[in-house]
Amino acid sequence: MLTIKLIPIAPVNMEILEQLTEPLEKQFSAAVEIEQKNLLNAETVPSRAQYYSTKLLSELLEANKNFTGKVLGITSVDLFIPVLTYVFGEAQLNGTVSLMSTYRLSETLYGLPENKELFIERSIKEAVHELGHTFGLLHCRDYNCAMHSSTSVEEVDVKGKTLCSNCRQKISLST
Ligand SMILES: [Zn+2]
Ligand SMILES: [Zn+2]
Repeated sequence: MLTIKLIPIAPVNMEILEQLTEPLEKQFSAAVEIEQKNLLNAETVPSRAQYYSTKLLSELLEANKNFTGKVLGITSVDLFIPVLTYVFGEAQLNGTVSLMSTYRLSETLYGLPENKELFIERSIKEAVHELGHTFGLLHCRDYNCAMHSSTSVEEVDVKGKTLCSNCRQKISLST
């Protein structure tokens, strides 16, 4: 059975990793493990409170180069790539590593009261999405599919937290 490793990247709320375990096991028919130590640390970000996503992704790859499963790094630091002001995550297409940030998934960022259920739901969607890329999935046109592209939290809320049958089929054909 394929193993998906969830890697906390400080600062991060460990509870969200536990909440992701079961949905990810179901979605990818995989065993999900939580790495208990922080292999990487994004806390050293200088004055700008964002971390360069691609750099973190390559550090994740370097730390897991002998791993044959899939990796999802999770941080609560905001991520960016030079052409975009922020990204929810980034992944190696048809590769080993992916990365997501929970920073923009919390209602409190938008001046709204905390909604833990919604936060978990959004996190599941983004986790399935980024891991989906590591399985070789591209963005999907189906609005209900977790692989539908989302550039704002409103778009995250519109899509579903599971893969459509088309995307599921592509994964089983390629493995
Ligand atoms: Zn994507
Ligand atoms: Zn799809």
